Amino acid sequence: MRKKMVAGNWKMNLGMAEAKDLTENILKECRSLSQDQLVVFCVPYIHLHTVADVIAQANHKQVKLGAQNCHDKQSGAYTGEISAAMLKECGVSHVIIGHSERRQYFHESNEFLKAKTNTLIAQSMQVIFCCGEPLEIRNAGTQNEYVADQLKESLFHLSAADLQGHITIAYEPIWAIGTGVTATTEQAQEMHFFIRGLLRAQYGNDLADKILILYGGSCNAQNAQELFANPDVDGGLIGGAALKAETFLPVIQAMN
Ligand code: PEP
Repeated sequence: MRKKMVAGNWKMNLGMAEAKDLTENILKECRSLSQDQLVVFCVPYIHLHTVADVIAQANHKQVKLGAQNCHDKQSGAYTGEISAAMLKECGVSHVIIGHSERRQYFHESNEFLKAKTNTLIAQSMQVIFCCGEPLEIRNAGTQNEYVADQLKESLFHLSAADLQGHITIAYEPIWAIGTGVTATTEQAQEMHFFIRGLLRAQYGNDLADKILILYGGSCNAQNAQELFANPDVDGGLIGGAALKAETFLPVIQAMN
């Protein structure tokens, strides 16, 4: 049986006081998480210490601190960037890599994401690796090839041990992110099954059966339960619905 994970991606939202209140309010209600359920708060860099303190006070082993990006280099003249080692020092265990907004607005290539993945693994950190197709690719019916290329070019150089030990995949169809248009439960399951099949062909059954594949894209209190009930959907990467306790808590509870 695989674990379940719900990760909240706050993006560039919430002030310091709001970040603290939101995390406290969610953690108060999160006491009944089981050992095979994980909640990750992927917060803006500036809020990492605040949220780390709240998580530490709650002393909840099933709740982790995440970041939304990092640079691939260890240190140096990269103005405005943050390294994996710096994040680790702040208590970050999980880092989102390859979110479609990073790919689109910051022109991050599969090759660059491969380098970031290597850096995070070298720091013994966990990668939440995002993949997913734009609408025109979905309309053309070539989404499987598109997602396969993203995974092959950024991840398939890894050893089975590194992939299994450090990677969670998040399938996020771009046409569903922040649009209110969720993939149907069939579309989500179909793509997750396809991704697991790719992993099975490349790395074998053991790895394919263990790796977590999250769904992201307008996942919320209303649809999380149905999406997470799919055999190959192991939880969600949540944007808008992660910004309020009353909308994030039902998504967390949908892991049950
Ligand atoms: C995301 O940006 O990762 C995301 C899934 O956003 P939303 O839930 O708002 O669609």
